[in-house]
Formats: sequence, C-alpha cells, structure tokens
Amino acid sequence: MGAGTFGASLAWRLARAEEQVTLVDQFEPGDARASSGGETRLYRCAHGPDTEYTEMARRARTLWRELEDEAGEELLIECGMAWFAHREDGWEAASERTLTAQGIPAERLDAGSAQLYPSFRGDDLAFVLLEPEGGVLRAERSVRALAAQAVAHGARIVRGRARPDGTGAVLEDSTRLEGDIVVWACGPWLAHLFGDLVLLRVTRQELLFIDGGPDWRQPGLPGWCDYDYARYGTADIDALGVKAAIDDEGPPIDPDAELPETAITEPEVRAYLRERFPALEHAPLVGARSCRYELTTDTQFIAAPHPAHPNVWLVGGGSGHGFKHGPPMAERLAAALLEGAPLPARFALGERSASQSLRTASSGTAP
Ligand SMILES: Cc1cc2nc3c(=O)[nH]c(=O)nc-3n(C[C@H](O)[C@H](O)[C@H](O)COP(=O)(O)OP(=O)(O)OC[C@H]3O[C@@H](n4cnc5c(N)ncnc54)[C@H](O)[C@@H]3O)c2cc1C
Repeated sequence: MGAGTFGASLAWRLARAEEQVTLVDQFEPGDARASSGGETRLYRCAHGPDTEYTEMARRARTLWRELEDEAGEELLIECGMAWFAHREDGWEAASERTLTAQGIPAERLDAGSAQLYPSFRGDDLAFVLLEPEGGVLRAERSVRALAAQAVAHGARIVRGRARPDGTGAVLEDSTRLEGDIVVWACGPWLAHLFGDLVLLRVTRQELLFIDGGPDWRQPGLPGWCDYDYARYGTADIDALGVKAAIDDEGPPIDPDAELPETAITEPEVRAYLRERFPALEHAPLVGARSCRYELTTDTQFIAAPHPAHPNVWLVGGGSGHGFKHGPPMAERLAAALLEGAPLPARFALGERSASQSLRTASSGTAP
C-alpha cells in the first residue's frame, strides 16, 4: 500500500525477485501530493558520523543506476553536493571521516576561494565539503520509473484508497486484498492509518524557485546544504529555477489538506541568498511549491511488523531525507520479508527520543 519512494521501490525489488506483487495507491505514482512528490530531491551520502545511513546512501547510487538502465532515462544527476561547514569539527567533518572510511569520494575545499557557483560567498565558513558523486534525483520521474519497472517485472498496480482490516486491506469499493505480506508504506498518511503505533509529525515545507539566468543552468553546479543553518537547494535543473528552501520545521498540516503554493518563507530565503549567493538576492521568484514532511522524533526511518499481525509491515518516517534511500531500504526490507534478515533496531516502532538530526540541524539539536 503506497507507491512513494519506499512502496514503489519495494514493489520493484520484489517483482524483480519474481514475487507476486500488487501495488496500491490512492493517486497515480509520482503524484505531487505524496511526500515523494516534486521534481527534485538531493542525493548525498554524508550523514555525519552515521555509518549505516552513509552505506545505504552509497548503495542507493548503484540501485538508482540499475533503475536508470531499465527505464532508459537519467534520474540521478551527478552534479555533486556541497556542504557549507561553519565549524572545523561539526557535522561536515564527521561526515568527511565517515565518507573517507567507506571510500566514498569527498573533498575539503577552502570556502573563501571555492568557485563552485556563478555567485558564492563563503568567507564566514570553515570549509566546504564536496561530495563529487552526490547530486540530485528527479523525484517524481524516479517514482514513476520504479512503478513502471515493477509492472514490467510483473507487478499489478491498483488505484484506490485502502484501509487496514486485520491482516489485509479494504479498498473504498469494499474490495478486500490479502497477501502473504501486506506493507503499508503510506508516507504522511501512516499517521492517520496507524496513529496508535506510529508517532509522526506531518508538516508543510515550502520550496522556492528563483530565476538565476543561464549561468545557473550550467551542468555540474552542485546541490548544497547548510546543515547548521538548515538551508538547502540546487542550481537550476530542468529549467525549474534555482531551488532554495528553509529546512526549519514548517506548520503542521493534515495529510489530506491541499498544499498551497505560497511563498511565506521568501524573506528568510532571500536573506540567506544575500549572504551566500549574492547575485540571487533580487532574482525573480518563478515558482513556489509545498510538500509534506512526515517526521519521526529522531528522524530515523520506520520499518517494522505490526505488533498484532506479523505479516503486516509499516514502513516510512522518511523525515525529510528518505527519498534517496527508497531502493536500498527496499533491498533490506525484501531480505527481512523473504529471508527473515534482521533490520536495525532503530527502525522499530515505539518511543523515540530526539537525537542529532539526519535531515539538518533544524531539530534544534545542533547550533
Ligand atoms: C520538501 C521536501 C524536501 C525533501 N528533500 C529531500 C531530499 O533532498 N532528499 C531526500 O532523500 N529526501 C527528501 N525528502 C524526503 C522524502 O521525499 C520523503 O521522506 C520520501 O519521499 C517519503 O516517501 P514515502 O514513500 O514514505 O511516502 P510518500 O511519497 O508520501 O508515499 C506514500 C504513498 O502512499 C499513498 N497512500 C497513502 N495512504 C494511502 C491509502 N490509505 N491508500 C492508498 N494509498 C495511500 C500516497 O498516495 C502516497 O503515494 C524531502 C521531502 C520533502 C517534502
């Protein structure tokens, strides 16, 4: 149930393994209302000192490339990913150590002289950490490709809104679906469907697109993230405009509520652009979109069986950083579902306590 990055990746994975798969979604795969909706997502391996997410992100690169080969389209744009480090020994330095230990390319650049963008100021930074093999995923296209390739391997797609019913699921037209395994990968809607088991904060996050002109459309301009300041963005990809966003937790929003195209965060975004990318401060706004985060308390994912029905699994809690991990999470889940391989304890249901954010520092745990 659910054809976002987690559900569609799992359907693809299981269908490739010649399992019989039905993939159910209330929308068409790649719908803008899903948490996986929107044109682009950052792809990075840096996760501070966290070795497991780093490894999984690196594995994601191989699996997204396999999907590209099957689908015949470029989904992962390897333009690089730049981290703006305010401290010599903060999140970025920890990331650098983890990346290096895993043999993942990472370069420490002098922030004052780094010429990464058509307009850039880094004299307030300790350094820039560049992941040359990081980049940007074409998000909605990737989800559509996952679903299409799942179908190409024999999966069936059903359009409908499902509700849990014991070990199975029931659609609005009363069709009952049963399976050896039923996985609910329903993004923000997990909070509605399993609110007694899953603690998720669903928030509205704004994305702004700015016309920086042709200079920002050159290939090879890295995605960027200012972890300590909770700001991130991309160059102008696919003529959408330069993407710039605030990663502070937005206002709560119901999973079924409309997503307005407001630009409430524009003054804050422009204030950041003035400091970091001065030429963009007054560049015209060409688009504004919203998307829903589904945040666990500790920003760790959820992947666990239902306590009352061992064949029913709950998967999600992408917490603002889940997109890239769809295929490797599916790989691990498939091993758990088919072979009983253990999953990390941190994906379990139950109480979680706040810890250093895997998204950005906007959880308030770092300066
Ligand atoms: C603004 C924004 C920026 C982000 N940036 C990044 C980033 O740079 N990098 C990154 O890796 N991640 C990023 N993320 C996070 C990432 O996109 C999400 O964590 C991930 O896409 C969640 O995927 P999902 O499959 O769990 O949920 P979803 O994509 O929401 O998929 C769930 C699906 O379940 C369906 N569904 C729900 N309930 C039902 C039901 N009852 N019956 C049938 N179908 C149902 C929904 O229609 C939906 O299609 C970002 C997220 C947002 C919102």
